[in-house]
Amino acid sequence: MLLTSKALRRRKFIRENEFLREDWHNHTWRSDGELGVLDLVLFHKLLGFKKLAITDHDFLLREKDSRTARLIRISCRLLGIAVDYGVEFTCRLDISFLKLKKKKKIGVHIVGLGFDPDDQDILEALVTLAKSRMGRSLDLLQEIGISHPDLVMPAALEKTEGVMSSADVARQVCALNPQLDYSALLRSLLTHRKYHVSYEKAEAEEVVAAIKRSGGIAILAHPVKALKENFCHLDEIVGYLVPLGLDGIEVFARGQKPPQMIAILEVCKKYHLRIYAGADTHGLKNLLDYVEEMNEYCQDPDVLALLQKFREWQQA
Ligand SMILES: [Zn+2]
Ligand SMILES: [Zn+2]
Repeated sequence: MLLTSKALRRRKFIRENEFLREDWHNHTWRSDGELGVLDLVLFHKLLGFKKLAITDHDFLLREKDSRTARLIRISCRLLGIAVDYGVEFTCRLDISFLKLKKKKKIGVHIVGLGFDPDDQDILEALVTLAKSRMGRSLDLLQEIGISHPDLVMPAALEKTEGVMSSADVARQVCALNPQLDYSALLRSLLTHRKYHVSYEKAEAEEVVAAIKRSGGIAILAHPVKALKENFCHLDEIVGYLVPLGLDGIEVFARGQKPPQMIAILEVCKKYHLRIYAGADTHGLKNLLDYVEEMNEYCQDPDVLALLQKFREWQQA
């Protein structure tokens, strides 16, 4: 897909909005994204961003393990854009503290940045999550009715780095069964109830605490998408995570509309949290959609007024 001229016109908007210039949330092919780090860097540069973070699901690209990551950081200096490597942790959170009648555990995503990449607690959590994702992939293959998962898994593992995603499973199943349509299979794996395979996740409290212990920043990712019907309890949920070390929330994220952005900003103000922006890029289309949505939502007069107030709170 080519960058559209409309997207390129939005460069100025991104460059001039101090809240949007830094994009703290992006995925590569090492989890479930379609792009590599360099693609992400170049597209962000073209669109006017000043900084981006690579935050694959449950996988940390460590510069000491990756010559490419080191080279890309050097290239970024030349390009005039900064890159950081972090992780989006797949967590569960027991919300019994809300004293609701229904479901007690919900899924939340915590973006961790700037932590010690050699921290043992974090590395152990990542190994456990990667194994858990592998188990999920085997269960998925069983659900799809693949009789020889031993043929699929080694091929998918040739990826060698990162975690096994539904996209990896779909890709390999289609390689062995060319009559299948990759996009249709992936869509059903991601959305069809019968392919919903639950797997072990990290405890949100432990992840936030480990990120803080190792000197990092813990951000609650895309709260609207993550909390779903529990978004109305954002205040209490954030209030529970703040004493553990939560630093901020993604105010700017795809699908978070002005009224929701306003609700999140109010919570950020109440708990003295930083506000973050995250495109959650899985492919170029996501990134272009994000730029378009932010261009529209950040023109909302109520959002603009609150952002102005936020500047004043931050300076006070
Ligand atoms: Zn997420
Ligand atoms: Zn994400």
